[in-house]
Amino acid sequence: MRKEFSKKLVSGTVPSAPVCLECGDTIKYGRADRKFCCDACKNKYHNRQAQDSRQFRQMVHACLDRNYIILDSLRKTNLKNIRMADLESMGFKRDFFTSYYRSLRHEVYMCYDLRYFVSGETVTSISRIRNVDDV
Ligand SMILES: [Zn+2]
Repeated sequence: MRKEFSKKLVSGTVPSAPVCLECGDTIKYGRADRKFCCDACKNKYHNRQAQDSRQFRQMVHACLDRNYIILDSLRKTNLKNIRMADLESMGFKRDFFTSYYRSLRHEVYMCYDLRYFVSGETVTSISRIRNVDDV
């Protein structure tokens, strides 16, 4: 322990004062690992973090809902297959799905209770599963 301390003194640099994560001001007092200059900055920072997280979740839900509506409307037309590019032109976002697995012949995606297969750039066999055990 003492050896490490002396090494730091020899090779280390003078630690700079910590900076507030919210406002960027130098933190002039408190513990060395303090992250905020005051409670107001701390609250503002954490509120923004929570808001960002909430907005991200809302964006994901909106994408999943849109994908669901598109897939369900196609399912009702009994369309056998559709090119991914055509789906995307309708607003479908391929990176948003609720589960995925690979079968022997297909990549199988789920958007809630809708199942669809992707082979290359083609989406096929959009169907509704009856219960979770069907997955
Ligand atoms: Zn601050």
